[in-house]
Amino acid sequence: MRADRQRRRLSIVVATVAAVSAGALTIVAAQGAGAQTGCEVDYDIVNEWASGFQANVSITAGEALDGWTVEWDFTEAVSDISAWNVADHSLDGSRFTASDAGWNGSIASGQTTEVFGFTAAGTAGGITGATVNGVLCDGEQPTDPDPTDPDPTDPDPEPTDPAPEGTPVEQHGQLHVCGTAMCGEHGEAVQLRGVSSMWLHWQTQPYAQNLSALEWMRDNWNIEVFRVAMGVEPEGAYLSEPDLWRSEVETVIDNAVATGVYVIVDFHAHEAHRHQAEAVAFFSDMAERYGHLPNVIWEPYNEPEIVSWSGQVKPYHEAVVAAIRAQDPDNIIVLGSPTWSQDVDVAAADPVAGTNLMYTLHFYSCTHDQYLRDKGDAAMNAGLALFVTEWGASHADGGLDGLLCLDEAQRWIDWMDRHQISWTAWKLDVGEDSTNMLSEGAPVTGGWDDHLRGHAPFVVDNLP
Ligand code: MG
Repeated sequence: MRADRQRRRLSIVVATVAAVSAGALTIVAAQGAGAQTGCEVDYDIVNEWASGFQANVSITAGEALDGWTVEWDFTEAVSDISAWNVADHSLDGSRFTASDAGWNGSIASGQTTEVFGFTAAGTAGGITGATVNGVLCDGEQPTDPDPTDPDPTDPDPEPTDPAPEGTPVEQHGQLHVCGTAMCGEHGEAVQLRGVSSMWLHWQTQPYAQNLSALEWMRDNWNIEVFRVAMGVEPEGAYLSEPDLWRSEVETVIDNAVATGVYVIVDFHAHEAHRHQAEAVAFFSDMAERYGHLPNVIWEPYNEPEIVSWSGQVKPYHEAVVAAIRAQDPDNIIVLGSPTWSQDVDVAAADPVAGTNLMYTLHFYSCTHDQYLRDKGDAAMNAGLALFVTEWGASHADGGLDGLLCLDEAQRWIDWMDRHQISWTAWKLDVGEDSTNMLSEGAPVTGGWDDHLRGHAPFVVDNLP
């Protein structure tokens, strides 16, 4: 653990101005007079750069809250605030106001909930005069002024080498959810496009794990993100060979770091809620070791089938998200929904609490048309951020009949572009399905100009 990467925590009373050195990762707490009657607003600076910063905000409720409006004064000059998971926010001079988005309005008595986040231009200093629903959160001295992090599972413990120059990760850095899409660490909107691997254990050759292939896709197809689909349930996949496939995923992550490409770590399962303990252990371990990397995006459940969102899938996500967040406070997590990750509108009615959460929507253009885009629109209108981690210009079986539906696929591409929805296309392997992108004899190291097949020419045409 490097001391300069340690998260430092500094709690102060609301009336005291925090002096925060540039680059420090700091929590400023406005503490309540008592757990039963007061309130506490935690202002957690999670990232800083030359011209701005990102913060997450938690509220501890004294009495139970059913809806909240939080206000404070910044101690330093800030501007251009972009907040997410709030219905409204405004900045009047130094006075900032934000109110709940509906789904995150309830906080039980004594409970602490991370409720929203924002980016701003200016200097990350402190906050003062914090109120919740007009009640000033003030009072006690902090009991632990020691800036040493008491948390033994300190997030982001490792130093991060800069991404190679000119690469997607060097350009956008640490991603966060903003509105219904993603932003980079400078606040810019980011639409990532790339491809997914085949189920790792069913690849005809180890294309996904090959460093030269990834570099070639970055330089020739302009991919910005690669999804590593780690099969979980079939014989020979993760549940039967956990050490092997964890190690192969690590190779893909290492390659993504070397090439400056984003990587989605996909628990490629259809019944993951039956293997929650294994998923929690996998993501806890991976997040502890890789959560400090800006490259990594977590995808805990590829495609739930016809099961209950609120009764089966959401509780699974809550457990896995908690395990990841105990190690990695900030990297994006993309959540699957029932009906093979099509029921984003159902998830939107009962979303998972937390920050930097997105939802995947999977489509296959011979099977899915406007009705599924309508479900995506409904989810975004309700505030969900979407990421299409799988799609094909084929039927939903991946194109066993070899058919392509390019007109409908183009309508999907246009819809994703309009909403800045990031995507990875299914799938990098040789085979007869129309979603298999490579033809027989494609070398494992890339150089595939004469080996594109199926929907691959269309996919490559629509990469950046
Ligand atoms: Mg992180």
